[in-house]
Amino acid sequence: MRDDRQQTLTALVLALRPQGEADCRVESVTAELGRVGAWAKGLRRPKAKLGGVLQPFTLVALTVHNGKSRVIIGAEMVSGFRTLKEDYNRLTAAALLAELLLAVVPADEPAPAVLALSVRALTAMEQAEEPLGPLLVVLRDLMQLLGWGVNAEICAVCAQPLTGTCFLQLQSGVITHGHCRRSGMALDEAALASLAGPAAQPSLVALEALAQLWQTHLERPLKSLRAVRSAFHHLA
Ligand SMILES: [Zn+2]
Repeated sequence: MRDDRQQTLTALVLALRPQGEADCRVESVTAELGRVGAWAKGLRRPKAKLGGVLQPFTLVALTVHNGKSRVIIGAEMVSGFRTLKEDYNRLTAAALLAELLLAVVPADEPAPAVLALSVRALTAMEQAEEPLGPLLVVLRDLMQLLGWGVNAEICAVCAQPLTGTCFLQLQSGVITHGHCRRSGMALDEAALASLAGPAAQPSLVALEALAQLWQTHLERPLKSLRAVRSAFHHLA
C-alpha cells in the first residue's frame, strides 16, 4: 500500500543543526515545499548511511515521512558541488546565500524559482574564476524575485540611463544620477555595472550596496557578511 505521508522533494541542503546525541535537524530549500526542516535520526553517528549525502550545499532527492514531525527516510545525491566545498572563498559566498534563503523562503509554499536560482548560483560560484561575480548576481536576482528589485540602468528621477557617479537610497532602493539627487550611498561606474548585470570585474562597492539593501529589508545585520568582506578583500 502506498503511504501518502511519504514524499520525495528536490532539496538543496543549507544547514545541519545537531540535536541530542546523534540526530540532526536538516534545513533545506525545496522546489515543492519551500523551506523544509526535517529530522535525520542518527546522522552524526560515524557510520550513518546518509552522512556523506546530507551536507550543506548538496542538492538531493530527499524522501521524507510527514508525520507529527517530518523525518528523513532517504536521500540521493543529485549534485555535490565538491569543488565549491573545497575552496574557502566559494564556500563563504555560498554561506551568505544560505543565510538569506533561510531568512526569506517561507515554509510549505512551493519555491521552484528560488531553488533554480540558488542551484544556478552555486554552479556559477563553483565554476567562476572569482566567485564574487556570481554572488552579486544572486544577491540581486533573489531580491528581484522577492519584489525588492533595484533598477541600476535608469535614473529614478529623470528616467535617463545612469552614468557617472550615482546614488542609491537604501530605504527605497532607488538609484539616481548625482545631479538628480545627491544623497545616499555613492556608486561608481564599476558598481553600477555589477548591479546591472554580470560584470567582468565584480565590484566591492556593489557588494556593499546589495548587502546594505538586504540588511534594510531583513531589518537585521547579516551574520555572514564579515567573512564575505574579508574573503574578497583582495579585490579592493
Ligand atoms: Zn537622473
